[in-house]
Amino acid sequence: MPELPEVETIRRQLAPRVVGATLRTIDVRDPRWCAPLAPAALRDALEGRRVVALARRGKYLDLEFEDDVHLVMHLRMTGTLLYRPAGEVAHTRVHFDFDGAAPLVFVDPRRFGTGELALGAPALAAFFASRLGVEPFDEAFTGAALRERARGRLLAIKPFLLDQRTVAGVGNIYADEALFRAGVHPLRAAGSLRPAQYARLRDAVREALTAGIEARGASIDDFRDLDGARGSYQDRFLVHRREGEPCPVCSTPIRKLVVGGRGTYVCVRCQPPPRLRRRAQAAISSASRPERSASSS
Ligand SMILES: [Zn+2]
Repeated sequence: MPELPEVETIRRQLAPRVVGATLRTIDVRDPRWCAPLAPAALRDALEGRRVVALARRGKYLDLEFEDDVHLVMHLRMTGTLLYRPAGEVAHTRVHFDFDGAAPLVFVDPRRFGTGELALGAPALAAFFASRLGVEPFDEAFTGAALRERARGRLLAIKPFLLDQRTVAGVGNIYADEALFRAGVHPLRAAGSLRPAQYARLRDAVREALTAGIEARGASIDDFRDLDGARGSYQDRFLVHRREGEPCPVCSTPIRKLVVGGRGTYVCVRCQPPPRLRRRAQAAISSASRPERSASSS
């Protein structure tokens, strides 16, 4: 599933190619892409308008047209955009034709991707406000802000990070990589970190995302960039999908857990498990050695 670095990779490639071009036609071949809006309504709003910007917010792409008209797209699990496709591409859901740019297609085998319309900046702001928290590279994303949001929360820190209202754009890969960099176990209660750990985690989220952007994204499932090329970040994962391999810091074998239904990779030495768990483990190991518990009591 494309996360912030993959979406940003597409944005950086696509922006210089389509900004300034005028949309001639948008052919929505799968109406579910823009439902409940009808494809005809999308055509009325967009056709004949010039593209003035391509922005990103979280994992959303915002294709901005003149007159403050926004087409907000989400790639979800398998969506991708291909520029100047060679012939007809399987699983094409939307086909864009421009004056001043080559054709663009939204390809999406599993069909979870979406395109939505926002008319005017207030509508766009409201759309994002109800779905997304702070941008990770915004100055408002601080350790203190993270700590404030986590206060009193018993939810594990990994699903807390995956909630797009905590910080926009972080998904399964970058959550694992950030938690490893910060030395925080994914099952720690979100509200249980020390103040310095929230600051460290803030930095780690930015570091992991920056590394992903520099590698032009990660291609472990379907992600391809605008020209159909694979990203390379999957070759630089520190822990994600590295079960059994040595931790890059301490050489302890990486373990795989399931947290909130998601495959999760940790170094249990660099990321000490939550205290509650350690206590439970200690209880189990002392129970299995009665001679020791007898001598200590
Ligand atoms: Zn380690």
